[in-house]
Amino acid sequence: MTGVLSGVDAPAQERRLVTEIPGPRSRSLMERRAAAVSAGVGTTLPVFVERAGGGVVVDVDGNSLIDLGSGIAVVSVGNAAPRVVDAVREQVAAFTHTCFMVTPYEGYVAVCEELARLTPGDHAKKSALFNSGSEAVENAVKVARLATGRQAVVVFDHAYHGRTNLTLALTAKNMPYKHRFGPFAPEIYRVPMSYPFRDEPGMTGAQAAARALQQVETQVGAGNVAAVLIEPVQGEGGFVVPAPGFLAAVAQWCTAAGAVFIADEIQTGFCRTGDWFACDAEGVVPDLITTAKGIAGGMPLAALTGRAELMDAVHPGGLGGTYGGNPVACAAALATIATMEDLDLSAAARAIEATMLPRLRALQERTDVIGDVRGRGAMLAVELVRPGTVEPDAALTGRIARACHAQGVIVLTAGTYGNVLRFLPPLVIGQNLLTEALDVLDAAFAAEVPRR
Ligand SMILES: *Cc1c(COP(=O)(O)O)cnc(C)c1O
Repeated sequence: MTGVLSGVDAPAQERRLVTEIPGPRSRSLMERRAAAVSAGVGTTLPVFVERAGGGVVVDVDGNSLIDLGSGIAVVSVGNAAPRVVDAVREQVAAFTHTCFMVTPYEGYVAVCEELARLTPGDHAKKSALFNSGSEAVENAVKVARLATGRQAVVVFDHAYHGRTNLTLALTAKNMPYKHRFGPFAPEIYRVPMSYPFRDEPGMTGAQAAARALQQVETQVGAGNVAAVLIEPVQGEGGFVVPAPGFLAAVAQWCTAAGAVFIADEIQTGFCRTGDWFACDAEGVVPDLITTAKGIAGGMPLAALTGRAELMDAVHPGGLGGTYGGNPVACAAALATIATMEDLDLSAAARAIEATMLPRLRALQERTDVIGDVRGRGAMLAVELVRPGTVEPDAALTGRIARACHAQGVIVLTAGTYGNVLRFLPPLVIGQNLLTEALDVLDAAFAAEVPRR
């Protein structure tokens, strides 16, 4: 895909290790980091970045690593994508900020128009823009409560919706996200997710939805529910793909109950799962949808989009923020969306699945420790267990991830039990890099796990 990466500074698309990982420059920067940066901010891989592009990240020691993380599903169009860089340069030279609520600018409106066009459903839609995914989720809850006059918000086991106080209440996992940061916001109710690998074998999406919704009806009361909030494919929770029909059943229940169905597509959106949005694969049309991560090629931008009557239920001035929909981030989003359309990055995500899934399944056949291989598009994962059980093996997951890192492949972990290796390559990654990264993964398993 050299044409995609024709920016003058695009790094060579290769894995190249010239020092141990991390190298001496990264190690000395890690010392400065430890002295100056809060210990509360974690590090997956202690290499400092000098530049990045396409499917590689180049560190300060000159090592070139294959990127299977995309900065957590953000740089789907590739790092420093040429069109994004040009749009940002042009906008930053024109003006950097006016505050959209003070004196508006076209880019913000154009992003909202694109969101109306691309998100599921052909009903009238409106949007508001924010800086982070967490902020978009908070605003979804605000809109749903105001529009319905109800308070309860239903969320699911293994859910991740952010790290601000309200979104921590919505997020499931204690360590490291919630631990001792409470008290958390009230009127949040958690119900079971459809998790095919861990549910009773054969449980259908409809059955899993009935299990969750019965709990809502008995413990919350359908008439008290402002919103049901769900990731159509769970992200940090371990790339859990609900059984077919689950999402649709939950959405239908919301319609009948007069509750707002909110899809959190912050990780799944913008071509990641092989469609513009993960809801598309099941024909589900959310009332509200939150987006961020892949939307703007790495610039901070998030959006809440939804039915015009819901979004307009809010009094003027009720939504906003100083930086929300910053003009530079909007320019980046427009260039990102144009890139996704021109290069058909949904098809690219499906092609990544076609390359990776058979390799991951073959790996599963060769060992006893991969309980499940799952995901959609370029959002794929393996769940590691003790042989012959479904008991999570987080320690092995960490060892495999570190072995990949040492060989110059950036992989991330996830999951409530910390036992999921997840793969989120940039959608523009070259086939050769992808294959090489899978070879490194195979070798890591071969070194850590006895063959079957
Ligand atoms: C990352 C993420 C968030 C939070 O987004 P931030 O930009 O980190 O605040 C919310 N929901 C989902 C599904 C996410 O993946």
